[in-house]
Amino acid sequence: MSVLTHGTGSFFGGNSTFADVMLPRTTNTYMHEYNQIAQTASYLNTPERMWAAWYAYIGNDVLATGIMSFMMHEIVYFGRCIPWLIVDRIKALRKYKIQTHKVPTAQEQWDCAKLVLLSHFTVELPQIWFFHPMAQYFGMAHTVPFPPLYKIIYQIAIFFVFEDAWHYWSHRALHWGPLYKNIHKIHHQYSAPFGLAAEYASPIEVMFLGIGTVSAPILWCAITQDLHVLTMYIWIVLRLFQAIDAHSGFDFPWSLHKFVPMWAGADWHDTHHEKFIGNYSSSFRWWDLMMDTQSGPEAAKKRRERKLAKAAKSA
Ligand SMILES: [Zn+2]
Ligand SMILES: [Zn+2]
Repeated sequence: MSVLTHGTGSFFGGNSTFADVMLPRTTNTYMHEYNQIAQTASYLNTPERMWAAWYAYIGNDVLATGIMSFMMHEIVYFGRCIPWLIVDRIKALRKYKIQTHKVPTAQEQWDCAKLVLLSHFTVELPQIWFFHPMAQYFGMAHTVPFPPLYKIIYQIAIFFVFEDAWHYWSHRALHWGPLYKNIHKIHHQYSAPFGLAAEYASPIEVMFLGIGTVSAPILWCAITQDLHVLTMYIWIVLRLFQAIDAHSGFDFPWSLHKFVPMWAGADWHDTHHEKFIGNYSSSFRWWDLMMDTQSGPEAAKKRRERKLAKAAKSA
């Protein structure tokens, strides 16, 4: 199916067969496809031409989206972790480390990376593979031209708010005895987290918490029939940045929560890993503040004072 036109297509995308899924249909080079699209659709900008050429080059939409999604996830995840690995080794930046005395060793980080990689290939790859058919079923567009920037921004803002609510309640549930012992304990192996530890978790947890990230756009798409795969990609990239940065273990004077009110950041999630209780949300602070589950000694002190004042009042 051409990405130059809109359409919903079949399970394997348009007229593709199972054989197409296993083998790319085309023998043309990527540049050949790109040049042809540049000639026939001169109204497209360079990223749009590149996008359309990729789908034309692979010749199968499921395969094209599958490869792109998996590559994007790996490049963004490990790419975003590299600066944090370097920051961990720079002594001058140690004063910004939240739990100063707990610097992760290279061995710890390598062990963590190995488990994350294993889970990406065994648990996430099959899920990513079925993303395109699922996206098409709910009417998500992967055609060009891309949607306007304002639309991408407001849709992603909605996904952030939705995912945060899902994360708060699911994460809080994961701290319930049996669920914690059998599922969430793995993620809490590192009481002083570092970037790579963001997806260090049981496969069940990855799926359970991942529902919030994936179902927000799917639900939006099912209701409005107005969502592009590109918006979904940008959302996933930003969500990965948020999760990795929240686990970085560093709080800088230029950290996002210092400028964006209610943004959670590393400062928020690091305390969760240190104290094991409270600060269950992912991107924002409002759920914890509303439900009185803020972590840390200061919040506990305030809670105690409120309780005492209430008891004195009713006495
Ligand atoms: Zn937790
Ligand atoms: Zn965590």
